Parts: sequence; structure tokens; C-alpha cells
Amino acid sequence: MKVVFTILLISLWCVFAGAQEQRRSIAVTIDDLPVVSTRRDLKNRREITKKLLAHISKAKVPAIGFVNENKLYKNGQRDESQVDLLRSWLAANLELGNHTFSHLSLHDNSLEKYQADILQGEIITKELLKAKNLKMRYFRHPYLWTGLDLDTKLQLGNFLTTHDYTIAPVTIDNSDWIFASAYDKAFDKNDKKLMKRIGAAYVPYLEAKMDYWERQSNKLFDREIKQILLLHANFINSDYFDDIAAMLKKRSYKFITLEEALKDEAYRLPDTFVKRNGISWLHRWALAKGRETVLSDEPKTPEFVLKAAGIDSE
Ligand SMILES: [Zn+2]
Repeated sequence: MKVVFTILLISLWCVFAGAQEQRRSIAVTIDDLPVVSTRRDLKNRREITKKLLAHISKAKVPAIGFVNENKLYKNGQRDESQVDLLRSWLAANLELGNHTFSHLSLHDNSLEKYQADILQGEIITKELLKAKNLKMRYFRHPYLWTGLDLDTKLQLGNFLTTHDYTIAPVTIDNSDWIFASAYDKAFDKNDKKLMKRIGAAYVPYLEAKMDYWERQSNKLFDREIKQILLLHANFINSDYFDDIAAMLKKRSYKFITLEEALKDEAYRLPDTFVKRNGISWLHRWALAKGRETVLSDEPKTPEFVLKAAGIDSE
């Protein structure tokens, strides 16, 4: 009897500890594949891809990468060595999605041109997915720019549905791209000290963002929804993704697929945001509810990082 009771206690503790350990969920989405960096040559693209994928695999993150297929061509010809970079994402059992052919802005182009760019951007990725018995399922708007009026949003929504795409929203928005630009520029100037300083500020910045979006989620839903993080396939993430994954694990996050995240009913809420900015869906929903629900203390990118990136403001 005593043994049974002890076993029961241990099992209960395991369940409790397990629940504790994984009380939060997050899907990691990575944009601008195969690589976005000033290090554009093949050797560097290969190195960045290899390092990033090694970190992702090590941390067992079922990430999805969003592709700009214009990077797969050289002088108008399909470049197999670039396509191979995408093959390595699939070899790591990761999913791929569409991010338009040329990272086109919906706000500065006609809807017709934008839709044509989406279709042009799926050709090679679909072929690679098909070879693995997979389908292209998700679309991510470049800059998170989703339309300046509801009619455009509706028309694009219908177009995406017709072509079997689901929109991939973002809740954990951040300025990893500014850190990346600063990091690239410091690398190009061979300023290792500055690279270290940028890297040292990067993960604490992301952690402050996590805290902010967790609180924003609580403010809106009285709970933490399944979050969707946006990062880019850049140099700084190829160096720091390990630390990012460790930070997320420390915050009790379980890594889930985008498909799993989208099962959260929060994502059934409409996105009616029609301003120019590319903002988190948490802010879109908050603004729809009333400006007072937007938490005002969103962490900012440090001044020295903005300066190193040559950017005036976020
Ligand atoms: Zn992008």
C-alpha cells in the first residue's frame, strides 16, 4: 500500500513538474530565407544557414521558414546552390512558407502585382515540398504590412484561401532586424568588440520583449495565448539562436509548430488593422478593443544598436 502511494505521489509530481515545465507555448517563425545579411556570397549564406539550422535542431524547435524565392536566382537563372540552402531546411524536418517572391510591399504596389508576386514566389518551394510529400500552407506578409483598407484585406484573404494559404500572424514582434543590421555592419568593419556588445544586448532585449508580450496577452485575454515569434534568417541569429532557445526554455516555453499555435482560439479574432505599420497581432486586437488596452512600456532597441545599424528610430 505504501509503495502504491509513493508511486502515485511520484507520478503526480511528474505530471505537475511537466505542466510547470511547459506552461507556455511558442511557435518560432523565421523570415527572409534563405538568408538576409550583408554577407551575401554563397560561402557566407551556407555558413549562416548551417549554424542556424544546427541551433534549431539542437533545441528541437519545429520552426517554419518563410522564403523569398528571388534569392534563388542568379542573372535570371535558377541557382541550385541557393536552392540547396532551402533543401537543408527540409532535411532538418522544418516547414517552409511563402513570403512573396521579391519581399514586395503591399502598401506600395497594386493588389494584382502583389498577388502575382505571391504566385511567382511559390514555384521552387512547392516543388521542394512536393518531393517530401508536403504542401505549402502558410503565407507571411513582408514587413507585416497587411493592407491599408478592409477591401484590400478581404480580397487578398480570398486570394490566399483560393490558393490554399493560411496567413501566418506574429504576436512576438521585435526588432531583431535592427540588431542584425548593426551586427552585420560591425562585422563588415571588423569591429569584433562592437559585435560582442550588440550580441550581449540582443538576448536580454528579446527577453524583455517576451515579458512585454506575455503581459499584453494577459491584459487582452486574461491568459497567455500560444505565441508566434518572428525572427529572421540572419547572421546574428545564426550566432545567438542557442541563447534565444535557452532563454525561452528558462521562461517555461514549449516549442510548437505554427499549426499547433494557430489552434489557439485567439487567432479566430479578426485582424481589422488598416494602418501602415507592421505590428503584432496582439496590438491589432488591442487597438480594435480600445487604445487603453495597449501596454505602453514596450521595450525599445538600445540607442547604440540603432546607431550601429544607421537607423534613426524604430
Ligand atoms: Zn521579411
